Amino acid sequence: MSDLSFLALPHVAKLHAYTPGLQPTEPGWVKLNTNECPYGPSPRVAEALRREIGEDGASLRLYPNPKSSPLRAAIAQHHGHGLTAENVIVGNGSDDILNLLVRAFCTREAAAGFTFPSYSLYPVLVEIQDGQSSVIAFDRAMKLPLERIAASKARAFFLTSPNAPTGVAFTNAELERVLASFPGLLVVDEAYAPFAKENAVPLLASHPRLVVVRTMSKAYALAGIRVGYALAHTEIIDLLDRVRDSYNVNRLSQAAALAALGDADYYATVIAKIKATRDRAIVDLTIRRGWFAYDSSTNFIFTEPKNTLGETGPAVAKAAYDFLCAHKILVRYFPSHALTASFLRISVGTDDEMLVLADTLDTWLKTQNA
Ligand SMILES: *Cc1c(COP(=O)(O)O)cnc(C)c1O
Repeated sequence: MSDLSFLALPHVAKLHAYTPGLQPTEPGWVKLNTNECPYGPSPRVAEALRREIGEDGASLRLYPNPKSSPLRAAIAQHHGHGLTAENVIVGNGSDDILNLLVRAFCTREAAAGFTFPSYSLYPVLVEIQDGQSSVIAFDRAMKLPLERIAASKARAFFLTSPNAPTGVAFTNAELERVLASFPGLLVVDEAYAPFAKENAVPLLASHPRLVVVRTMSKAYALAGIRVGYALAHTEIIDLLDRVRDSYNVNRLSQAAALAALGDADYYATVIAKIKATRDRAIVDLTIRRGWFAYDSSTNFIFTEPKNTLGETGPAVAKAAYDFLCAHKILVRYFPSHALTASFLRISVGTDDEMLVLADTLDTWLKTQNA
């Protein structure tokens, strides 16, 4: 064994990579662990991809549009509120956009702030840059800690809203109070906003320090195509463009995202269906079973399993997770922190998948009585 890590920068040698949710390769799993859309993308996406590839793939010889210009224009038009292409930057997934934000705004001297729990990629991106993090922990109520964000001294604060893994949304009124008291850049990661009642896009016109980050991975059923974007003041977009890879979004991804944005009716139907399934699943968990679940504005549910003795806690959550896993149902379990260790995060699947989940949880509870 050789040890080449001494050649790396010290902070890189110590790095812990982000842990993505499991992506099983064998068939037969009910996959409720990474908040993907249970339905396929608009049929226009596959058509657009075939058109882009053509008979022989000849177009792939050529580099893609370096700025994803047609897509930026379409995104601006999609959101309205006076946004233009100059208010938009597109990335290879929103993870790319989040990385650009950390690259442009965060160092050892200029901390990146975020809450716990929230999206666990933020601290990894900060560590890659050898930057400094300022972490603000929620308590069980998961209410926005406004004063602590204001006092955080972060240069950029990353707020997931609706939050992950809790599903709890923050209101525009709350975001405006943060913007009034926190002097840095407020990045609102709206990966799940299409499932929520409200979003921060209307605030952009009057708040130049606000950045709204979106992804096409969840509501648009395009996790595999890797497109995300940010909406912000033109000067912020210009700064992010300086640290972006020149060809960060490939030809096929640009074509797929454009086609998806063009089929608003299809996605309105899919999103309504997912929300209805979610609301029925929450009733099953909370009313029928008496489990606690946070009010979800997303396509997942964060719930605290209860065993037949009425007990909750990390051991109960782990037992439920293991039982589901043994029955080929994959959900997400975050054992490393007291605020999350008693909970499971369950992505909203199809109605059939949610029935399989409910039946399997019933079996789990019966097994305990035996
Ligand atoms: C899924 C997710 C992302 C990542 O989106 P990609 O566009 O697939 O990179 C970003 N933020 C949050 C909060 C997410 O849940």
